[in-house]
Amino acid sequence: MSKKFGIAVHGGAGTILQQEMTPEKEAIYKGGLEEAINAGYRVLEAGGLAVDAVEQAVRCLEDFPYFNAGKGAVFNHTGEHEMDASIMNGFDLAAGAVSGVKHIRNPVSLAKEIMTDGTHVFLGGEGAEEFARERNLSFEEDSYFFSQERYDQWQHAIEKNVMQLDHGSEKKFGTVGAVALDKEGNLAAATSTGGITNKRFGRIGDSPMIGSGTYANNKTCAVSCTGHGEYFIRAVVAYDISALMEYKGMLLKEACEYVVQKKLVNMRAEGGLISIDRFCNIELSFNSDGMYRGYRKNHELPVIAIYRQPL
Ligand code: ASP
Repeated sequence: MSKKFGIAVHGGAGTILQQEMTPEKEAIYKGGLEEAINAGYRVLEAGGLAVDAVEQAVRCLEDFPYFNAGKGAVFNHTGEHEMDASIMNGFDLAAGAVSGVKHIRNPVSLAKEIMTDGTHVFLGGEGAEEFARERNLSFEEDSYFFSQERYDQWQHAIEKNVMQLDHGSEKKFGTVGAVALDKEGNLAAATSTGGITNKRFGRIGDSPMIGSGTYANNKTCAVSCTGHGEYFIRAVVAYDISALMEYKGMLLKEACEYVVQKKLVNMRAEGGLISIDRFCNIELSFNSDGMYRGYRKNHELPVIAIYRQPL
């Protein structure tokens, strides 16, 4: 029985440059990451399940207005917030996912509800919302998801006729995610996003796709991705890391290095991922300028970073 435990979270990758950040803004982002890390860590420390820890961490990130998920979800082309999320339990490969949901306060919990129910894995749009109503999940009005900054980004993207992959520049991704190992050796992963500013109505990215944006298997690792979804879908990124470990015997570090720095770079795909294996090794890999990220394990203090720097 494993006694090691740990959690890692991300709040998106991209062109996140120190010179464009104020110390106040940096403190806000780090505070948001720390709160999420600690929410998941507390579950693990008390002997809880990895799958509950990632749900708690992602709920925190969804409630935090500065990341692109839940409350902070970006506007699509028609001025709505369409959110995607998924969760996977490495113990039994159970999974749940939702895409294109509106007004749901915590899409990750809806994904978990679908996983727990077990009848289906993936529900979209109105069907997912109906299921959420049956399960008494919280809904919010449009005003809950509104922020002037997001609105301005959307207007800017409309003016320029571009899809904006982020909060601000065309190269930042604000998706959130968490991966965890519990004391019993179970791995789990969860990812949640508002997608891409000014995305076409109905567009679905990698985040809700099991195997692309999210994957967990107790035999190998748990992975949550952030980046240009269209590429991450085609590269089946999260499962690829697990498969390289399972079939090629690669270590987590080698598999992440190969997929993020070679495979994705060759496809000109920008982004990153967080991952943890059953030995509690944690890899936070990205090929962009930065990634909002952090982790905490085995009674140690949290480690948090934003820019390209060794941890
Ligand atoms: N991967 C997400 C998507 O394409 C975007 C992100 O990571 O911010 O929907």
